Amino acid sequence: MGKLVFVGLLYCLGCLTALANLTDLAEEPDWGRLDSFQKCISKGEFVRQLNEVYCPRKSWWSSWIEINQDSARIRKKADSDDWYDLQFLESNKSNGSSFPCFQISGAKIFIDPGHIGGEFSAMEGRHFALGNDEPVKEGDLALLIALALKSKLERKGAAVFLSRKQNQPVTDARPGDFKNRASSWFGKIKWMHRITEEEKRERIQKKADLYFYRVSEIMARRQLVKKTKPDLILCIHLNAAPWPDPQHKSLVSRNDYHVLVNGCYMGGEMAYDDQRFEMVWRLVNRWEATERLIAESMSRAFAQKTGLPAFAYKGPNALKIGKVEGVWARNLLANRIYEAPVVFLEPYIANSEAVYQRIQMGDYAGHKEINGQKKQSLVREYVDAVLLGLERVGSLK
Ligand SMILES: [Zn+2]
Repeated sequence: MGKLVFVGLLYCLGCLTALANLTDLAEEPDWGRLDSFQKCISKGEFVRQLNEVYCPRKSWWSSWIEINQDSARIRKKADSDDWYDLQFLESNKSNGSSFPCFQISGAKIFIDPGHIGGEFSAMEGRHFALGNDEPVKEGDLALLIALALKSKLERKGAAVFLSRKQNQPVTDARPGDFKNRASSWFGKIKWMHRITEEEKRERIQKKADLYFYRVSEIMARRQLVKKTKPDLILCIHLNAAPWPDPQHKSLVSRNDYHVLVNGCYMGGEMAYDDQRFEMVWRLVNRWEATERLIAESMSRAFAQKTGLPAFAYKGPNALKIGKVEGVWARNLLANRIYEAPVVFLEPYIANSEAVYQRIQMGDYAGHKEINGQKKQSLVREYVDAVLLGLERVGSLK
């Protein structure tokens, strides 16, 4: 009898406090942070950003956001009737926000070399080797580019911060710290009993690794962003194409570039309380205007400096932004949780014939002839494209 009462009590507490639906390692959002944005954004601007940038399908957001005449109501928790009411700016009033602008001199720029690299690159899946050649590590290349870019931007009067200066993690955590969390995550999956013990161990290890190198690492970098309060964050990456045959790696011929801003939250992502809050947070801060301005300038600069074609997404996880080709919106952990305008650079296909050869040649001054064309080192071409993109932002208005 006593046990029954106890179970009943727990059940009722469960009804009263709906469980938060959160992404891996995320904390419950503090909706009160939106209070300072009351009556700061008009209904037209809110709805425009929602449709054109953050969530292009009404069916993805309609269970979570209600648009009324005077306010947007945003559901705070999945399975609860608790809503945040964001009052719109009256349409005849102006909030004084002007067209975004940017210039290198005086800007606070945070450069985030993607991934960790070094001894962690294989675990990150950002590492490949062909024969006896030097392995290609995206994290190491990103750091070389970031360091060169930092000194050039500083000479032009910017204050530049790096998320990392070595091929080492920023987070203090390591995969071993997430073993229990990974095991309990798999404990909830029904088909786990059907696989062998060895496969189970491998999967738990992979999940613990992922918590470390992706989630915990990016969360640690987010703290650095919070301290720095930059005007702009540049995430430095190189793209790669899927191997045609993963067993027998052979280089691909595809080579292209693209640039990402934050947006395109899909239905499943909107259902997470933290992601829904972060989307609204980015929207009310109007970071999309700066992100788009910089991304479009970057896209033009990469097309000019590298001569590469722009990549175009086909699936629902990316949304075309504006008319300049190569500029897309995606919802990634880093461009969602870093609290400032974030532009993600994804030039070059590292496992293409053309790029692989250039990576193997390393960094060098001046030009070298490659397949009949005189080319800078890949690192210097990347840095020059970013500089050109940032220099030209002001002249686009
Ligand atoms: Zn990357």
